[in-house]
Amino acid sequence: MNKRTRHFASDNYSGICPEAWAAMAEANAGHEVSYGDDIWTQRASDLIRDIFETDCEVFFVFNGTSANSLSLASLCQSYHSVLCHELAHIETAECGAPEFFANGSKILLLQGANGKIDPAEIERAVHKRTDIHYPKPRAVSLTQATETGTLYSPPELQAITQTAKKLGLRVQMDGARFANAVASLNVAPADITWRAGVDVLCFGGTKNGIAIGEAVVFFDHDLARDFDYRCKQGGQLASKMRFLSAPWLGMLKDGAWLRHAKHANDMAKRLEAGLKNIPGVKISYPVQSNGVFAKIPKPAEGKLRERGWHFYTGVITGEESRLMCSWDTTTEDVDGFIADLREISGQ
Ligand SMILES: *Cc1c(COP(=O)(O)O)cnc(C)c1O
Repeated sequence: MNKRTRHFASDNYSGICPEAWAAMAEANAGHEVSYGDDIWTQRASDLIRDIFETDCEVFFVFNGTSANSLSLASLCQSYHSVLCHELAHIETAECGAPEFFANGSKILLLQGANGKIDPAEIERAVHKRTDIHYPKPRAVSLTQATETGTLYSPPELQAITQTAKKLGLRVQMDGARFANAVASLNVAPADITWRAGVDVLCFGGTKNGIAIGEAVVFFDHDLARDFDYRCKQGGQLASKMRFLSAPWLGMLKDGAWLRHAKHANDMAKRLEAGLKNIPGVKISYPVQSNGVFAKIPKPAEGKLRERGWHFYTGVITGEESRLMCSWDTTTEDVDGFIADLREISGQ
């Protein structure tokens, strides 16, 4: 079996990008105040406020599951429900953490093509039952970029948030791949968050090239009340916080976050172009961020694995293989994968 150094299994297979690494090294220069009262956390939070062009509240946590769970818990009482797409990470990949941290708030599933919520589904779910025996809908959670690699365009996003607001629901965004969405849509981060009606964003760092961590960004200050206590109780208050926050400074200060995201998106486009030319391979969803979903004939899929390629099949939906690109994916990686698949397929 070949020893490969890079794979398409997940964007979290990648290492730490140079900008995040350098910032961590810089933060390692000596002693520093702990538990987030340090200069790095202050500067990184200020930079996030600059990037979003608003006075938002920022908290750095260890991972996306806690960012989603704790932010949803801050929107909901135990008798509330959260509406999300049936493929949403909070439903399929967080082991019930949102329900656990929100003390029993129920997740209600919505349908929609290409991994995106259909706004009519929000209306349906809210109007389906309005009696006291049913958990009261309180929030919509949507993922940008979605679990299937697609994006909500600004008008699509607005259709969701307007429906949500009309029905008295708060809006939480799972932005594990928010950078990929901003880079692909080429919009101001504010335009697809608070200006479009998003109340809280889980801004992903890990899949963008940071070692560990996500930023929970509250655009509504009232919702952030006591969130620091929630983080501490949930085991998410880092004592050496500067090592969670300094990498954000490295990523954001000169646009590395968007350069890396754009690169990963471009690699996904290149992969899609190569796969499209191989008979028997079918692309499953529009490729709009850094992931490609494709149906690859079973025997060929097995042979790719024999050649040392790691990727997931069927984890998100059905039979598709998921191929994720990272900040460090190279054109050689993509072309090598395509060349192997062509050869295996007898092309
Ligand atoms: C990766 C990911 C997360 C975060 O997952 P953790 O493993 O908890 O960091 C959240 N949402 C989506 C859509 C993801 O892909």
